Amino acid sequence: KELTDLNALADEYLRLAYHGLRAKDKSFQADFKADLDPNLPKSEVMPQDMGRVLLNLINNAFYAVNEKRKKLLESGDTSYKPLVKVKTRSLGNAIEISVMDNGEGIPESVKSKIFQPFFTTKPTGQGTGLGLSLSYDIVKAHEGTLLVESPPKSGIEEILSGTLFIITIPV
Ligand code: ADP
Ligand code: MG
Repeated sequence: KELTDLNALADEYLRLAYHGLRAKDKSFQADFKADLDPNLPKSEVMPQDMGRVLLNLINNAFYAVNEKRKKLLESGDTSYKPLVKVKTRSLGNAIEISVMDNGEGIPESVKSKIFQPFFTTKPTGQGTGLGLSLSYDIVKAHEGTLLVESPPKSGIEEILSGTLFIITIPV
């Protein structure tokens, strides 16, 4: 473990994910925002592992908004504004990192399966179904929790529908 600036990590991975997806698909389009708590304490984490968690959640979020965007465009709806937001917050004895999107959301029947290894709803070649199960294990190894809300119930301004993942790790 290393004393890590999770704000910097979150910000870096948000940009990295966005530019990675843009490089693969020129039609990819989404807004992204980082709402970072300036008083977030540095935390003892495994930076590469936490980085993977963030990248998994952020990639999933961009995928979800892009799918929704493509579907709505096909039906002639141009009003949708895809948005991915990462938010950090100090809770005193814990740190909270939220990754939220205003994408397609997760149906109730699917929600109970998303943390299972190899579970994916993506077409072959687009997803391994390992991202969330790995993320869950990594967060657990940090004695933290990884929760999902879809539709999001808390911590949202612009994002009323879609999905919210909340990482909480003790400091
Ligand atoms: P993969 O991304 O390879 O499919 P994951 O473990 O990362 O595997 O995610 C499993 C499934 O959870 C996805 O296939 C998708 O159905 C659902 N999911 C995860 N994140 C989101 C999200 N932000 N919005 C909608 N569905 C999601
Ligand atoms: Mg994934």
